Amino acid sequence: MTVAWLGIGANLGDARQTLKDAVVCLAQQHTLTVVAKSSLYRTAPIDAGGDDYYNCVVKLETGLDVHALLGLCQRVEHHFGRERPFCNAPRTLDIDILLYGDAIIEEPELVVPHPRMRVRAFALVPLVEIDPELVIPGHGPASAFLAAVADQRIEKVKPLCQCLGIAPAPDMPDSGNCR
Ligand code: ADP
Ligand code: MG
Repeated sequence: MTVAWLGIGANLGDARQTLKDAVVCLAQQHTLTVVAKSSLYRTAPIDAGGDDYYNCVVKLETGLDVHALLGLCQRVEHHFGRERPFCNAPRTLDIDILLYGDAIIEEPELVVPHPRMRVRAFALVPLVEIDPELVIPGHGPASAFLAAVADQRIEKVKPLCQCLGIAPAPDMPDSGNCR
C-alpha cells in the first residue's frame, strides 16, 4: 500500500457540491481508502479568470501504481464533466496527484511531487492542515513553503454546524457548509 495525496479543485457549476461528490466517488473506489480529508477552502483563481475555486486535499492509501491512480483521477474528472478547452480554463473538477509515497517522477505526462504544489496555497494549506509534519520528497517540509504563498487568498469554508453553533452528531460528517 502506498500513501498518496490528491489535490482537488473546481470553479464551474456548483463547485462545492462537485468537490464533495468527487470525494465520495473516490471513497467508493475499492482500489483505495480515503484516510483523511482536509477542510473545504475557497481560493482566488491563479493565472486565470473566472470564479473563485473550491479546493480540498485527500490523503489515501492505495495498491494502485501511480499511473493507474492518474487514470482513475482522470476518469473521475471526466465523470464530473471535465473538459480541457485551453490551459488553465475554468474546470468542473481537477484532481491532481500531489504526492505518491516518496516517489519522484519526471515523465512527460506525470510529474510527482506535483510541480506547482510548493507555490500554491490551495495545495499547501490543506496538506499542512492534515499533516503539519508532511515532507515533500526531494524538497523538505511542506510547512516551509507556506510563508512564500501568504499573499494568495485562501479561506476555510466553515462547516454548517459551526455557523449554526451546534455540535456535529458524532457519526455524521458535516453535511453542508456556510454560504
Ligand atoms: P493542471 O496542470 O492545471 O491540473 P490538467 O488537469 O489539464 O491541468 O492536467 C494536464 C496534464 O497534466 C494531464 O494530462 C496529466 O497528464 C499531467 N500531469 C502531470 N503531472 C500530474 C500530476 N502529478 N497529477 C495530475 N496530472 C498530472
Ligand atoms: Mg490537473
